[in-house]
Amino acid sequence: MAADIVKTPFLVNEMVVYFISPQVAHVVEVDCRIELTTTPDSCTCCSFRFRSRLDPNYRCRHIEAVRQVLEKARHAGPGAEKVICGL
Ligand SMILES: [Zn+2]
Repeated sequence: MAADIVKTPFLVNEMVVYFISPQVAHVVEVDCRIELTTTPDSCTCCSFRFRSRLDPNYRCRHIEAVRQVLEKARHAGPGAEKVICGL
């Protein structure tokens, strides 16, 4: 069984990734006032909205961060959240 990532804050590349469900996370950047809603395939940030129209495979850094946490959690057992959260 994978680590339970929902409702645990993860620090990834100066961003806080906070999952509200197993596939949906809120992402906040260190210098940003806006909380983004990010899934492994979509994001509410301006970069993604703009670039994804031109390139359907485009992934912003928030999507990369969400995917990074999901990937680590998949290989970690229950109770390993503190190890992968980076806080
Ligand atoms: Zn984004």
